[in-house]
Amino acid sequence: MDIYCLACPICNKPLDKFSNVCMCEAGHSFDISKHGYVNLLPPMKKSSHGDNKEMIRARRDFLDTGHYQKLRAALTQSVSSDCKRSHALLLDAGCGEGYYTKAVSDALCCKVVGVDISKYALIGASKRLNGACLAAGSIYHLPVLAKKFDIALNIFAPFDKAQYLRALKDDGRLCMVIPGEDHLFELKATLYKNPYKNKPAPFEIEGFKLLSKERVTYEMDINSNQDLMNLFKMTPYYYRTDPEKKNMLSQIPSLKITADFIILQYTVAQNSQT
Ligand SMILES: [Zn+2]
Repeated sequence: MDIYCLACPICNKPLDKFSNVCMCEAGHSFDISKHGYVNLLPPMKKSSHGDNKEMIRARRDFLDTGHYQKLRAALTQSVSSDCKRSHALLLDAGCGEGYYTKAVSDALCCKVVGVDISKYALIGASKRLNGACLAAGSIYHLPVLAKKFDIALNIFAPFDKAQYLRALKDDGRLCMVIPGEDHLFELKATLYKNPYKNKPAPFEIEGFKLLSKERVTYEMDINSNQDLMNLFKMTPYYYRTDPEKKNMLSQIPSLKITADFIILQYTVAQNSQT
């Protein structure tokens, strides 16, 4: 694994690689896992480890069915038509197992830094993104150097504006994917008496200028209960739903479900201060 543009999570100084550790000039050192990522979670945060093995497996298996491939293709098309730069550096904060990261970085032929809080996600990402710079770290304290990145991705991940403004170059781009109002509506209608539509967050973000907005919506034919349960486990509803309803869902052999996404492209606004 190459190490570039990573910062010490304790003192923010650049990290260099020495054999199987990363170290800053102040001597703070961090282990490089044999699974191909460096652990930059601050010591107190090591207990908060994000998505667990079961969630990661469910997401990987669902993504591998191809139901989100249309989103991935639209996202890749959107980023690559907007941002043609040679030797670009891409930051994926909340990269998960790298399903989108891989497609975008292949299309742009760019180097990647992926950050996720879950070590299980990073183990998957290191397989998809062979040789990429991957770090276990907090999205609210990204362990990356300032003003190094041409493009940053935020795909269904928590968003901390200040972290992106710090990491991106002055002319950097941010690409964000958020759920549209109809996303997974039929799944919610199966589970709840009064399902509600999603309320997309306001598109304007202070410090960024919105360049484009694209809605991608299509029907997914979920034709096995295994795929349905894997999709369910990727959602926040899984944790809010009582066992009786979970059991009811586990009896449903197939379901047509709407996928609805909004792809947003931004550039850093001039004069934005972090
Ligand atoms: Zn340090």
